[in-house]
Amino acid sequence: MKSDNISSADWVARSLRSVWHPCTQMQHHESVPLIPVSHGKGAWLVDMQGNEYLDAISSWWVNLFGHANPRINAALKDQLDRLEHAMLAGFTHQPVVELSERLGALTGGVLGHCFYASDGASAVEIALKMSFHFWRNSGQSQKQEFVCLSGSYHGETIGALAVTDVALFRDAYGPLLQRAHVVASPDARLAQPGESAEDVARRAAAALEALLQERSGKIAAVIVEPLVQCATGMAMHDPAYLRQVRALCDRHEVHMIADEIAVGCGRTGTFFACEQAGENGEAVWPDFVCLSKGISGGYLPLSLVMTREAIYQAFYDADVRRGFLHSHSYTGNPLACRAALATLDIFAQDDVLVTNRVKAQKLSVALAPLVSDERVQNFRQRGMIWAFDAVVNDADQAANFSRRFFTAALQRGLLLRPIGRTVYLMPPYILGDEEIVQLAERTRSTFDEVMA
Ligand SMILES: *Cc1c(COP(=O)(O)O)cnc(C)c1O
Repeated sequence: MKSDNISSADWVARSLRSVWHPCTQMQHHESVPLIPVSHGKGAWLVDMQGNEYLDAISSWWVNLFGHANPRINAALKDQLDRLEHAMLAGFTHQPVVELSERLGALTGGVLGHCFYASDGASAVEIALKMSFHFWRNSGQSQKQEFVCLSGSYHGETIGALAVTDVALFRDAYGPLLQRAHVVASPDARLAQPGESAEDVARRAAAALEALLQERSGKIAAVIVEPLVQCATGMAMHDPAYLRQVRALCDRHEVHMIADEIAVGCGRTGTFFACEQAGENGEAVWPDFVCLSKGISGGYLPLSLVMTREAIYQAFYDADVRRGFLHSHSYTGNPLACRAALATLDIFAQDDVLVTNRVKAQKLSVALAPLVSDERVQNFRQRGMIWAFDAVVNDADQAANFSRRFFTAALQRGLLLRPIGRTVYLMPPYILGDEEIVQLAERTRSTFDEVMA
């Protein structure tokens, strides 16, 4: 499959002419390389010249068990010969039923109703609409507002962007958005001298409480990214925050939406991040969980919203208008659901949450020199996420840090894309011992080069 340099460069040139790449200022590709991928294997992506890149961000946080995973491939090949797609209105099929049952069981049956879509932003839109419509069906149609956290990211469609607080993604579209209330983030990095992460969480919860006391009659839901606000730069918080949000939502009759699109599927150490939010490490269940990204193992677009019996019942009626009349063409796609079932099978067969703890420990040890590096701030880790902030002195270094790091990492056969000056690792769950060492060494040597 190896191609020569000329055809590789040719594919890049053709891509730049015809493909408008996501989340990219296209002009930057005058200096930043565009990599034409030939194939993937395990934790590695291979380009058309045969160069290999360790995919340390799981291809935008989706790929859990490696590229071209034999078990997921086999499940998909089998599914392909049975049913590639069928509409989910008026029809159902085995993969979507099994997936809903198995995910519901993982919440102990608390969130036993699954509503499907294709990408993460759609799942967020669905949770927002469901919450709004629940209150309307319950005679409280004045509850129309939403609350999100400072630095939140919930996707980039218009509704999801309205609860997103990343200026770079949001500001250009400000006039289009029905903006949500933005309350303080529990980001542990905001600790004042002498404050613990739990103190920051308490302070943030108090800000939410003040808003709810004043306005809960108009508020439908609070949306949070449990444990790690990923897109803003891997901002981690104390789990105490989540149980305080749950208690406040109960007290003020407001829904709690947990956007587990990035942190779900084992990323933070438990299958759902909400499972470690309780006082003694037990689950704190929200009213809605949004899942996507890793749920299909990184194979196919799939997202879903899980919710409670009481919310489902508020829509159950003879009147069609009280139903949740939302759909996407590929809702509950059988291939995507089958990939998700194969992914859940791997979690069970390989005892992934336990083996991940061992892998995480090894990678933390390999990265340990960074913890005390004076060019590093806020080294942090939760589950299979590591992050640290580079201490950049001049504005020039800061402005180009991310792109320079990305380019320097590629030259070492490593795929990492810092967010601003935050370097983070979100590797697939299949790294071997040698890959763990390679990942840590390449990360450190890239950092040395960029900071020099
Ligand atoms: C990625 C992400 C989304 C959006 O998902 P898309 O599939 O990119 O639309 C929403 N919320 C969080 C927390 C995410 O990380």
